[in-house]
This record gives sequence, C-alpha cells and structure tokens, in this order.
Amino acid sequence: MLPFARVTILGLGLIGSSIARGVRATMPTVRLTGYDADTDVRATVARMALVDDVADSAGTAVIDADLVILCVPVGAMGAVAGEFAADLPADAIVSDVGSCKAEVARALAAALPGATIVPAHPVAGTERSGPEAGFATLFKGRWCILTPATQTPEAATERVRAFWTRLGAEVEIMAAEHHDRVLAITSHLPHLIAYTIVGTASDLEEVTQGEVIKYSAGGFRDFTRIAASDPTMWRDVFLTNREAVLEMLQRFSEDLSQLQRAIRWGKGDELFDLFTRTRAVRRSIVEQGQDDAAPDFGRTHD
Ligand code: NAP
Repeated sequence: MLPFARVTILGLGLIGSSIARGVRATMPTVRLTGYDADTDVRATVARMALVDDVADSAGTAVIDADLVILCVPVGAMGAVAGEFAADLPADAIVSDVGSCKAEVARALAAALPGATIVPAHPVAGTERSGPEAGFATLFKGRWCILTPATQTPEAATERVRAFWTRLGAEVEIMAAEHHDRVLAITSHLPHLIAYTIVGTASDLEEVTQGEVIKYSAGGFRDFTRIAASDPTMWRDVFLTNREAVLEMLQRFSEDLSQLQRAIRWGKGDELFDLFTRTRAVRRSIVEQGQDDAAPDFGRTHD
C-alpha cells in the first residue's frame, strides 16, 4: 500500500522536481500538486507536466494534501510554512528536505502549532539547481535522514520512511542536533573549503585566470564543481547551521596549522601517515557504494 495518496511539493527546484519525478516513477497513482514562488519555475513545471496541478499559492497547494514537503532554501522554510498554516488539513503530515535540521524544525514547529512534522534530509544532490536539473533516480541508494521530535507519532515517521524507501533511499533516524554536527563535517565544511580555494585562486595576481583554468585538472576543478553550488542555498545553510559549522571549522583550522608546521619542518612521515589514512577513507566510501571506483570520479576523457 502507498504511504500517501496526495502529495504537495512546495519549491520545485532540483530537489522538489526530483521528488516529483521519483513519485511519478515509483508511485504513479499519487496525485501530485506543486507550488513555487517563482512564476517561471511554475511555468516550466507545468510545461514539463512534472505534477498534476501547479497551484498559484502555498495555501491552495496544501488544501487536500496528506503529505506536504517543503523543498525551499532553509532560510525560507518558516515563512513558507506560515503561508499555508491556515489551509493545512488536520491529518496531513508536513516534511521538508532542508540541509540543516534543528533550526528548520524550530521554524516549522513555530509556524505550524499542533501539526505533525517529520523533518527529512535526503543526502543527495548536485551542484545544479532548478526544475530542469532534477531526475527521478537522484535519491536511489542515497541516505535520507529523518529527525522527528520525541513527541512525533511513530506511525507518521514510518509513513515518511516508507515514502523515501519507495524513492530508492536508505532511511536513517537521528536527533536533529546530531544530524547538524555530522553534516557540518561531511557536507557544509567541504563546501566552505571549496568556496575558499576557488575564491583564493581567482584572487591570486601572480597566477592568471587563464592558467587557473588551463591547469585545473591538477585538482582545482574538483573543487570548482562543489563551489558552483547554489549561492542562496549555501548562504542559508551557513547562517542556519552556524554553531556546528563554526565548531568543525575550529577543528579544521587547528589541523591545517599542524599540517603547515609539518611542511615547514620537513616532517615527511607525518604527511605520509595522514595521506595514507585519508586514502583508506576514500576506499570505504567506494566500498559502501557512495561513489564510483573509476579513477577521476568516473569521468570519460574521449
Ligand atoms: P533550488 O533548485 O534552488 O530550488 C528551490 C526552489 O524554491 C526555487 O525554485 C526557488 O525559487 C523556490 N523558492 C524559494 N523561496 C521560496 C518561497 N518562499 N516559496 C516557494 N518557493 C520558493 O534548490 P534545491 O537544491 O532544490 O534546494 C531546496 C532545498 O533542498 C534546500 O533547503 C536545500 O538545503 C535542500 N537540499 C539541497 C540539496 C542539493 O544538493 N541541492 C541536497 C539536499 C537537500 P527561485 O527561483 O526564486 O529561487
């Protein structure tokens, strides 16, 4: 049996449109309604027929939903919830896909008193945005982390789990605060580092822009992919998951200083030991199916 019959998606960019495509592919009888603040996005979604109905407000979009998923930038979650609060059916479940959980959960609970909320974060994405960037298999084999509050009925969490399982994801449940610390080191800090390296390289005066691009295969281009991620989304992530990011950044800065010292004093063994340990981390990621084993991230060079 399907966990939900009428699903509403608010925010139809990369993640929202991928959910819509995934629902079409795996739960074709589900009635899909979508809404996006951007009129161009609404027109694109209607033209591509990604949902059954494109609503022209968040309120009308949720009116007969049994699952409402917010797929907007994390900084907009509370405001969007406020837009539809008065129209939300009493038995509907509200979820989201935000990259940070504790702050978003607080914003949703404040805007939707009494509603059943099961926050979620599919740990899957690309550096692209918008409805045309989405695809049905984005979540296949990826983790989706649910962070229900302790008072959330287990049956609601189980229905949301069943929904994500249908989309091909592996579901894990954890506390919102724990999620935010884990993602600070596995996702948010890597993005911050990529933004820094690409920013520094483009500011260097003695190396021309042309050379940075020409010799990018030396490693730089792998950072540029991450640093091309959506500016609105990532601005909101850093402002929302501030504490956990600052904590991990502090640890990172200390380790970076240690590496700096090792290089200065010619401590080759220290460098070698670290690089050996990090190689093993990469091997585990490939073994667990979270990346391609092919060299150079599976790129073809023909
Ligand atoms: P996206 O492609 O930029 O899509 C977001 C959509 O929401 C845009 O169409 C945006 O319209 C719309 N929007 C913004 N404010 C709105 C509002 N107040 N009401 C209704 N619609 C609004 O971004 P995304 O990558 O799908 O990210 C969406 C959410 O997923 C974020 O919370 C992000 O943290 C989370 N997430 C992202 C990834 C990833 O890798 N991208 C992975 C996991 C989770 P505009 O055209 O006006 O911007």
